[in-house]
Amino acid sequence: MDIDLARAWVQAIAAAVGQHKDHLTQLDSAIGDADHGVNMQRGFSAVTTALDGIEPDTVGALLVKTGTTLISSVGGASGPLYGGAFRAIGKMLDPTATTQQLAAALAAGLDSQNLGAAAPGDKTMIDAYTPALAAFQQQADAGSDLAAAALAAADAAEDGMCATTPMQARKGRASYLGARSIGHPDPGSASTALIFRALAETAAAR
Ligand code: ADP
Ligand code: MG
Repeated sequence: MDIDLARAWVQAIAAAVGQHKDHLTQLDSAIGDADHGVNMQRGFSAVTTALDGIEPDTVGALLVKTGTTLISSVGGASGPLYGGAFRAIGKMLDPTATTQQLAAALAAGLDSQNLGAAAPGDKTMIDAYTPALAAFQQQADAGSDLAAAALAAADAAEDGMCATTPMQARKGRASYLGARSIGHPDPGSASTALIFRALAETAAAR
């Protein structure tokens, strides 16, 4: 991944979040407080504005800036969780960003989300991120290029999102609903799937 690709990825996330804002909010209205689409759009439009004005020297610096901006612009739980993940990913990518290094960086991003103390199966964004990372790592280990690794990750993230539907939430606002959280996909897993799909599409367009 180079700086242009990292910038294009973040722009593609912003576009996808804008396009799917109402859907994300609808998912959050079923089991949360109906702001996930608004939160994600606010965050990624702030990121677009922040990146417009600067020319970061490295992929890492660009992604750290993305994370810092998300943390400062998103009020909900997703802000620090995504912001912390982008910061952790960026910190692993100075100065280079091979597909293997990106796999390690994505793992650091998932680790950073431990701050939310969610485990797989708790019905959170972790349930999309964990299988996406596993698929990405497997492709990277097999010597696949970024486009192939990101495609496998995006497919796995979408499967992970679907798998949250029958889960009962144990973290975040949805957990307040207890068994009533069952039967709806987790909004954060849906936005995580958008983030990996944006990476796959950006890398494929190269
Ligand atoms: P809020 O819940 O504060 O309204 P959002 O609606 O933007 O924030 O984000 C909700 C999403 O955040 C959930 O769908 C879930 O995926 C994720 N989430 C919430 N709490 C946690 C947590 N402790 N760990 C991981 N992810 C979490
Ligand atoms: Mg919410």
